[in-house]
Amino acid sequence: MRALQYRRVGAPPELVTVPDPEPGPGQVLLRVAAAGVCHSDIAVMAMSADELPWPLPFTLGHEGAGTVAALGSGVTGLDVGDTVAVYGPQGCGRCAKCAQGKENYCLRATELAIYPPGLGADGAIAEYMLVDSARHLVPMDGLDPVTAVPLTDAGLTPYHAVKRSLPKLVPGSSAVVIGTGGLGHVAVQLLRALTPARVIALDVSPEKLALAARVGAHETVTSDADAAKRVREITGGLGAEAVFDFVGAPATTATAGACAAVEADVTIVGLAGGTLPVGIGALPYDVVVTAPYWGSRGELLEVLDLARAGAVEVHVETYPLDEAHRAYERLHAGKVTGRAVILPNG
Ligand code: NAD
Ligand code: ZN
Ligand code: ZN
Repeated sequence: MRALQYRRVGAPPELVTVPDPEPGPGQVLLRVAAAGVCHSDIAVMAMSADELPWPLPFTLGHEGAGTVAALGSGVTGLDVGDTVAVYGPQGCGRCAKCAQGKENYCLRATELAIYPPGLGADGAIAEYMLVDSARHLVPMDGLDPVTAVPLTDAGLTPYHAVKRSLPKLVPGSSAVVIGTGGLGHVAVQLLRALTPARVIALDVSPEKLALAARVGAHETVTSDADAAKRVREITGGLGAEAVFDFVGAPATTATAGACAAVEADVTIVGLAGGTLPVGIGALPYDVVVTAPYWGSRGELLEVLDLARAGAVEVHVETYPLDEAHRAYERLHAGKVTGRAVILPNG
């Protein structure tokens, strides 16, 4: 079968032919219908050999959905032909965090060398993918895999972040979303669906700001050195009760801190090297700064239910497998509006 692999440190991904995978005991083989392209892959492919935490090569794609093509021995509860999405941040299934469905925070994943598909293990940008356990598969139940596949990361990650801050997003509050790309344009919709907050979107691109407004942002602000001042004007000088930074660069984490109200949450999701110092005088009193990773299995079920209710809709542009490299080039150049999705069998 054909697969898009990251094979050499610093080199672009390569479309290669690899042996057809066969499910071993407990494993599930999926015929991939759709695979989302995330900016994290670009960060991974920018790492040096010393920084990269996984051996090469591996097949890219940590957002995957498809139909069950074959079941390994002992797999129950699934049938060939079922349409499912893959829960990516897989853990051991047994530790205290996994027991709560928080496999994204598995206490033993590193020790056991459990890597997410597409981030160390073979991922979804291929005609077929192997999933290690039926536990990692969630039924699509009527959702279109093409528009729903980004919900497994571009939906789940902001859902986890927004959910933490719901108690602060009361009537009269404001929420800031920095970077309204793949994750950010979903975050805007989640905030609109789940809170009465005024949503203020920041981006450097007019096209991304236009998308943010289209999906529900009340205000759009150009993300520059004056952005925090503008947010304070919009919020009557108080700042925002929750700030979500989907860029995470030094400039945006500084903006995030400068937008924060007293007792605000600042959530740094993007991984572009930015940090935000905490200490008396550095931020308004009692601001909580956090940097989460992906989301829990239960939260994935919730975000898919929200999509079924019509409350979130991912804007996608699609590519055949032959053109998958072009999706990465366009994402790197900031040209993808919403999420790029590869259709390996389309
Ligand atoms: P994306 O490229 O689709 O979106 C990024 C957006 O940020 C774009 O709209 C871009 O125009 C905008 N942007 C760039 N510089 C900006 C600036 N200075 N100010 C405001 N906006 C700016 O990327 P994505 O796939 O949505 O991923 C977003 C970030 O989240 C990436 O850093 C990715 O690695 C990270 N991520 C983290 C997790 C996690 O679990 N923590 C999960 C998924 C992705
Ligand atoms: Zn991702
Ligand atoms: Zn675990």
